[in-house]
Amino acid sequence: MLERRIYLDHQASTPMDPSALALMHHTAALFHANPSSSHLAGRRAREVVERARARVAEAVSALPEEIVFTSGATESNNLALLGAARAALERGGSRRGLVTLPVEHPSVLAPARHLEAQGFRLRLVPVGSDGRVILEALEEQLDEGVLLLSIQAANNEIGTIQPLAEAAALARKHGVLVHCDAAQALGKTPLEVEALDLDFASLSAHKCAGPKGVGALFVRHGVRRAPIAPIAFGGGHERGLRPGTQNTPAIAGFGEAAERAAARLPEEAPRLARLRDRLERRILDGAPGARVNGAVGHRVPGATSITFPGLDADALIANLPDLDISNASACHAGIPEPSHVLRAIGLSREDAYATVRLALDRPRADSPRADSAVDRIADRITGAIRTLRRLLASSPGAPL
Ligand code: PMP
Repeated sequence: MLERRIYLDHQASTPMDPSALALMHHTAALFHANPSSSHLAGRRAREVVERARARVAEAVSALPEEIVFTSGATESNNLALLGAARAALERGGSRRGLVTLPVEHPSVLAPARHLEAQGFRLRLVPVGSDGRVILEALEEQLDEGVLLLSIQAANNEIGTIQPLAEAAALARKHGVLVHCDAAQALGKTPLEVEALDLDFASLSAHKCAGPKGVGALFVRHGVRRAPIAPIAFGGGHERGLRPGTQNTPAIAGFGEAAERAAARLPEEAPRLARLRDRLERRILDGAPGARVNGAVGHRVPGATSITFPGLDADALIANLPDLDISNASACHAGIPEPSHVLRAIGLSREDAYATVRLALDRPRADSPRADSAVDRIADRITGAIRTLRRLLASSPGAPL
């Protein structure tokens, strides 16, 4: 039953790379010691962690000492914002401004609002209808009073890629620190933290075929030299920035997945983008009135967000029981508010509720039958839309 399902929610999470899974298994079985222990078994476990650190670093063109392992991008985002704020308060600087975008993930927006409640000045820079930051508006918000700009690499709902290098260059002019939530970028779009001139970048393993519950924060120049302070206490792990015994098997799996994802990117990205375009074209042809959201020329490959005006996305999803599709970000599940991302790019509440996101995966892209598989997915979706529209026409006002 499970094999017949078609999983189209790779922005929420990805199936694990088999070699990352195998390495996790091997690590859990053989390297059980605490990586902080000084005996031989401990040193061997520490070697596993350090090898993974080097692989993650290499995947984003960083140095190993610039990678701090965390439990995922949620923690990394919190650590970057709260930790940079704490360091600023402790060092007595006068910068108290935070700048970010209304389309950020809740794990950026919530700590930013928390800091606002503590006395920081929070400014949200508007984005265009394609979800990209308006650079002139960003420039207006940056000055010598701003501590940190937090800008995502790619959006988890509409796939829009932000002009990171341009935004970071604007921030630099005013001595503003730059944090990037790159959870959706690793393995999907080139991410070179040094070339982009970032101070901090959040990574998540389960978005790039690694395990859940592990991620990293890139900290430029390493923890000791960077303007960041810990937000949890009780151990000297991760150079004092993130206390707690490292999850050796998950970290090993992350290292393997990150290296492999970065290596296959040049070949995989165009293939996934072509299939996504094919899927999108066929859906738009079969569902008149449907609209694609996001920056069509600046999106992660494989992903699309489509609005079907007048239709309830939940009803559509309920009519496609063999497809795993999300209506908004998974982090919103259960919350009746429409997606804040879709609202920020100008969609009405109704259109936000009429939107689904789809993301194709690597095995599908690799298969010689990928085109026909994608066509079948599109036909299933447009078939369900026609059924719903017929129902709606026969009983207008019915809750679909
Ligand atoms: N940022 C973005 C853009 C994301 O898509 C996600 C995952 N939904 C996160 C942060 C949180 O990542 P994690 O699941 O690793 O905590």
